[in-house]
Amino acid sequence: MFDFSKQINEDSAVLIPIKLPNISTDVKVFMKRIDLVHSIISGNKWFKMKYNISEMMAQGKNTLLTFGGAYSNHIHATAFAGKMFGFKTVGILRGEEHFPLNETLKSAINNGMVIHYLDRTTFREQESEHFLKKLRDKFGDVYILPLGGTNKIAVKGCAEIVEQINIDFDYVCAASGSGGTFAGIVTGLNPKYALEKH
Ligand SMILES: *Cc1c(COP(=O)(O)O)cnc(C)c1O
Repeated sequence: MFDFSKQINEDSAVLIPIKLPNISTDVKVFMKRIDLVHSIISGNKWFKMKYNISEMMAQGKNTLLTFGGAYSNHIHATAFAGKMFGFKTVGILRGEEHFPLNETLKSAINNGMVIHYLDRTTFREQESEHFLKKLRDKFGDVYILPLGGTNKIAVKGCAEIVEQINIDFDYVCAASGSGGTFAGIVTGLNPKYALEKH
């Protein structure tokens, strides 16, 4: 694993009690503030990305290509990570280019991401071998991270989100898009995971 300790502080992801209105006092709700690990590569985006970056480095590649929508936090975070850790980034976006560019895309471009737009039909074929070959012909020997940054390696990273929870709990709630974060949380909660990891 590469050393990210200067840029990312995983220990800042504290568990804080929160008060919700109209909820029984028997019910305690906590929030794990993984958004605090970094101001831009915040929360789940870091955990999805960390082992993918180290895998990319292990493969000797220096460009990460990924997919997202025009308002994708994943695109935003990936562009920033590329600038911060010194690798190139390519963002493949669903749909057509619209001007003026929104803040997500402006920031991605400012952080050096090369943006490429794909019509919705072609975008859906993003996992076909034929299409991936075309991407490599165009962008070179890139490390490809699927839509929303979710793959098996991302799930492994997200399993760590629940590792440091030191209270008992009955339920976990998380927002979900591609589902990679939640898949990781479920993995991390499986007792087998802890046995295999430690
Ligand atoms: C990216 C993101 C999600 C979706 O995560 P998935 O792993 O794709 O399910 C949910 N909430 C926030 C705030 C996000 O930035």
